Amino acid sequence: MEGTHVDFRREAEQVRWLAQTVAAKGWLPATSGNLSVKVSDAPLRFAITRSGADKQRLALDDVLLVGEDGRPVAETSHRPSAETVVHVRLYQSQPCGAIVHVHTMFNNLASDVFFPQGYVDLAGHELLKALGHWEEGAHIRVPIVENHHRLDDLAAAVAAQAQPAVPGVLVRNHGIYAWGEDADAALRHLEAFEFLFEYVLRRRQFP
Ligand SMILES: [Zn+2]
Repeated sequence: MEGTHVDFRREAEQVRWLAQTVAAKGWLPATSGNLSVKVSDAPLRFAITRSGADKQRLALDDVLLVGEDGRPVAETSHRPSAETVVHVRLYQSQPCGAIVHVHTMFNNLASDVFFPQGYVDLAGHELLKALGHWEEGAHIRVPIVENHHRLDDLAAAVAAQAQPAVPGVLVRNHGIYAWGEDADAALRHLEAFEFLFEYVLRRRQFP
């Protein structure tokens, strides 16, 4: 079988590390979420968590190697995450090496509260540096897309709003896709987004 011998152990280990780190924060409730690390660009290959896996106890064979059609490259009894198609579209449209997708309380709240305006405004925060914005008066807008039921539509909507200067897209009442040049960067970006969403929402309680 073509590609059966692709060695992706290093990327699978990174996916497992990412999954355990993010799960330990409580950001992958009820087996939700999916995480991936790119293996190659041409052809596109990446390692991604299988559907339904408990990320806290992820085994290496819970991580699958998939191609640009979103299907496993090698023989496996597992199915890749249903949202693999979103990862495919992001790898094709953004210069990134890892993607994390999580459903959290604060990213869901932010996506709902700010959906009418279409984005979450983040400005005047030290942590914007973690998202690559060191300029004075940094100000970014994190786009929010509708939670399309058809995953091809969701993938197209996320890819259409994705931009290198803002490494994340919110999906209404669903979660966030965040990415980075590698697993470390994707995690750093996710942590910054989650901190900032929580801040923005809590800040609204004060005059
Ligand atoms: Zn999801």
